[in-house]
Amino acid sequence: MDVSTFYKKRKKEKEDIESSSSKVQRQLARIEYSILAPSSKLKLFHKQEDAIKYRGSDNSLGVFSFEHSTGGKRMFLVSGELVFWNHYIDLTNLQRRHYEVIAEQRPCKLYLDLEFKKRDNEKLDGNTMVNNLIQALNTFLQKTLQVTGYKEDILILDSSSEKKFSNHLIYPGLVFRNNQEMGHLIRSFVDSLIPVEAKQFQVKKGDEIQWFIDLGVYTKNRNFRLYLSAKYGKSEILTVSANDIYTVKLLEENHHQHKFDLEKEIFFSSLVTYTPGITDFISFKTELTQSCRKKSEQPAAKLTNLRTGEKSPFLEIDDFVMKIIAPGFIRKWNYIQEESIIIYDVGGTRYCGNVGREHKSNNIRFVCSLKLGILNQKCYDPDCAHYRGPDIPIAPELLPWTQFTDWDPESTGEGPGDPEGTREKEDPQ
Ligand SMILES: [Zn+2]
Repeated sequence: MDVSTFYKKRKKEKEDIESSSSKVQRQLARIEYSILAPSSKLKLFHKQEDAIKYRGSDNSLGVFSFEHSTGGKRMFLVSGELVFWNHYIDLTNLQRRHYEVIAEQRPCKLYLDLEFKKRDNEKLDGNTMVNNLIQALNTFLQKTLQVTGYKEDILILDSSSEKKFSNHLIYPGLVFRNNQEMGHLIRSFVDSLIPVEAKQFQVKKGDEIQWFIDLGVYTKNRNFRLYLSAKYGKSEILTVSANDIYTVKLLEENHHQHKFDLEKEIFFSSLVTYTPGITDFISFKTELTQSCRKKSEQPAAKLTNLRTGEKSPFLEIDDFVMKIIAPGFIRKWNYIQEESIIIYDVGGTRYCGNVGREHKSNNIRFVCSLKLGILNQKCYDPDCAHYRGPDIPIAPELLPWTQFTDWDPESTGEGPGDPEGTREKEDPQ
């Protein structure tokens, strides 16, 4: 090994060490697409579940679908992403009706689906809303995940028509453990907006008010339209938005490369489940409940009817909330340590105090402020975005840790739900 190679190697090692030590202050990383050799497997399925089963845990394979007739009828394709790309780019525009299947529990890049009907929202400017949203979301990501992001790190794809504004936002360097936890994050983001901010991201659909962000795209096995594809029977191809600067940066950095293929780079950046080389997945729940993780994993017989099977670290408050929402149940909880609040998403009932009845489709939630010792009902219906139900005081005996003067919600260790470990004595199981 000659001297210069040695120093390059040493420099590389040093960089590796530095990058692994800076996990907490995570930067949006670029993904190297060339490091995985293409898999030669390519297989067609009629059923999505068979395709997902066939892929199994083989990380060299992606699951895709395509519409082949009206009514959204689809077939499914499993292959290495590069093999797929070579097949896909040879198709005509009319043949590209393809989607990426975001399988349950699969790591994926942060993505957002944004849309509104133009006729109902004549005064709104979609690109300005996207820019405002990026700013607000990046501030939130910085605060909650210590991730620094800029607009140039986000790929903006567009398939707007005369009737509809429609964008996909993809953060190629921000990979979550799965899209459910991502949905959690986006809901928390929406929840964190003060009314004047929230108003910027609300759109009309007929007489109803909805979010600009589609909160329904974080469900399991979601089909997400591919770059360069159109919906069956439609002509609007999903392509790079005029508002995008991610691709400008991509081109600036790589134009000198002889074989640089911009289309291909954009395609791989846009594939949300394609994350080679990334092992540092973001787990939204873990990020925010690290200090309480140990506690929440302990068996606690009290909360047997929690559908998720997971209890929050604040067992007493869980119980209290469950009494209030019965016969509803806690669908999931989310502890935001920085703000000392717990958000309880409620299932089984959609009764909202703001409208005095159940909502048809939007769920409600209860937000508990640990600092104030109060609980308020809030609501996912955009019409109720400003609504905060009356204060429901939580009895001090349900907040036992607050009676210790040295209690600090930021501290690690025992977990505030059980400062003396008394539960173990009561429930040896
Ligand atoms: Zn409501």
